[in-house]
Amino acid sequence: MKLRTHIVFSFVVGYGLLRLLGAGIRCGVVVSVATSVAVNLIVDAGHAVRGRLRVRSYLTHSPAGIWVPLLVSLLPYVLARWTGLGVSVGPALLLAAGFASFASHLALDMLTESGVYLTPRKRVALAHFRYDGLADTVFFAVSVILAALIMGADVLGNVRGVITWLWGVVGG
Ligand SMILES: [Zn+2]
Repeated sequence: MKLRTHIVFSFVVGYGLLRLLGAGIRCGVVVSVATSVAVNLIVDAGHAVRGRLRVRSYLTHSPAGIWVPLLVSLLPYVLARWTGLGVSVGPALLLAAGFASFASHLALDMLTESGVYLTPRKRVALAHFRYDGLADTVFFAVSVILAALIMGADVLGNVRGVITWLWGVVGG
């Protein structure tokens, strides 16, 4: 799939996971946007287009690509600790967001005709959509709608919480 599709889809998965794990809305948005952009950019940096097919790098489009979420999640954390800057997010949440982005990238690419690598010689594809065809457009649109729904529900839920709290304060 195209990079924009990967980024929005990873954001939805990562944000949902972070919120399930108890992260706040702001933390969820910042961490999932940052990891989604970083992980998907690095994973797709190895792409080359040969004819109609996208040739993917084994280094990023396989289980061996696990170094990408590890690097994206832990390097900023380690650097921040090392330089004495405060980190308000724990490594577990960062890793969860990183792995969510990585797994969702491979899941989407598994639906395209080039598939992803299981081993350096073996590729798996669950479906054979073109990476830039109608399926990509549909996945992109669905991901944008999901992102809007999940954020909308979250913000609305929060607004309701604030109103309830105010009501409680005013009502004594
Ligand atoms: Zn890819």
